[in-house]
Amino acid sequence: MQRSSFIETLADLKARGVRLTPQRQMILKVLKETHEHPTAEEIYKQVCQEFSGMSMATVYNTLHRLKELGAIKELSYGDMSSRYDGNDTEHAHLVCESCGEVVDVPAPVLPIVTPDTEALGYEVTSFRLEYYGLCSLCRTQVS
Ligand SMILES: [Zn+2]
Ligand SMILES: [Zn+2]
Repeated sequence: MQRSSFIETLADLKARGVRLTPQRQMILKVLKETHEHPTAEEIYKQVCQEFSGMSMATVYNTLHRLKELGAIKELSYGDMSSRYDGNDTEHAHLVCESCGEVVDVPAPVLPIVTPDTEALGYEVTSFRLEYYGLCSLCRTQVS
């Protein structure tokens, strides 16, 4: 499955009766057109260049709303700032423990043996898989 583009996502939201202001559209566009997984601050810095009156609160509100609508995903990392993901396909991540870079990789094809979550009373709606390590750049700096 191909990740849906900004235009496709916008059309889908419109069909669902969701209207986005130009500022909110810009936030969605930034996320749909990058392969990086930016933090809210990083998104703010980009969007501010076009909308100088934009507040950080607008960015947070918009990210929250887009996440609720299923248009983007939030990746939280404990105490660190959350990162946001415009890739709506099932995929896994490579996370560099040194520089914090997050890279998309295809979800594993081997069958994953899922524990019996129903026995624990859980209804699982999604899962998140991340491989931690060092990116190629950080590896050369360590050795
Ligand atoms: Zn790195
Ligand atoms: Zn991703």
